[in-house]
Amino acid sequence: MMSTAHYGAVGAFSRFFSWWAALLAMAFGLAAPSLQAAENDIILPAHVQQGAMVIGRVPVGSQVRYDGHVLNVSDYGTIVFGIGRDETRPRTIEVTLPSGVRQQASVTVTPRDWPIERVNGVPSSTVSPPPDIAARIGREQAQVSAARTRNDNRTGFAQHFIWPVEGRISGRFGRQRIYNGTPGSAHSGMDIAAPTGTPVRAPASGVITFADPDLYLTGGTVLLDHGFGISSNFLHLSALDVSVGDTVTQGQVIGRVGATGRATGPHLHWGMSWFSTRIDPLLVVKREE
Ligand SMILES: [Zn+2]
Repeated sequence: MMSTAHYGAVGAFSRFFSWWAALLAMAFGLAAPSLQAAENDIILPAHVQQGAMVIGRVPVGSQVRYDGHVLNVSDYGTIVFGIGRDETRPRTIEVTLPSGVRQQASVTVTPRDWPIERVNGVPSSTVSPPPDIAARIGREQAQVSAARTRNDNRTGFAQHFIWPVEGRISGRFGRQRIYNGTPGSAHSGMDIAAPTGTPVRAPASGVITFADPDLYLTGGTVLLDHGFGISSNFLHLSALDVSVGDTVTQGQVIGRVGATGRATGPHLHWGMSWFSTRIDPLLVVKREE
């Protein structure tokens, strides 16, 4: 049912030794001292899947640029970024070491087969909402998007994520529906079927950056910032147990499963993002190291 064949690749790390360590070793006919080499390594997985959260390591004190962002670097040299659903190009980070030496490291992106579902006979008012509703949706989505621009220094993203609820996966990340022949946007998260009222737990620690019980499309909506641009969103909640600014620890109850907003039945929609790039929670929760 669930293929795990690709997940191992995420753990296959390749190492990029600094050029000067290699030169020194060649010049003096010595192996570079392993401690020094380790401190100056840039470590990234060699291959990642579309929709992956990529965790890497750089020498402490480095500056790292990726895709127009300056990445946060933790006290341990940890960095993170996300790979979009439709990304196909190798992705490169530019690292300026504390010495000023610049290096690059790349990951290749493994494509996935995204499911497509055709849905016909949908009332046109649902496909294109009337102007007043469209305006409300636009306002609400702008508020949610603003919460995703934060670059918090907390490192909850590096925890081993847990499932926010137990249940059958009823909708996968990346699925695209075509309504009456018009492609809708791809499913931005993972749906987990569970009865209304089931507690939703924080999959990793973070701070609540958005909490509203009644958005038009997504109903009870909570955003949880795990730091370094990585956030989770929980949609269609029947009740909220948190407010904006609350710090939550992994496993803490943040709300209850529901079917609020546009939902056909009770389920948790769990989405994840790196800033505005949607990533697949299933890859994150199954991450191997
Ligand atoms: Zn969903």
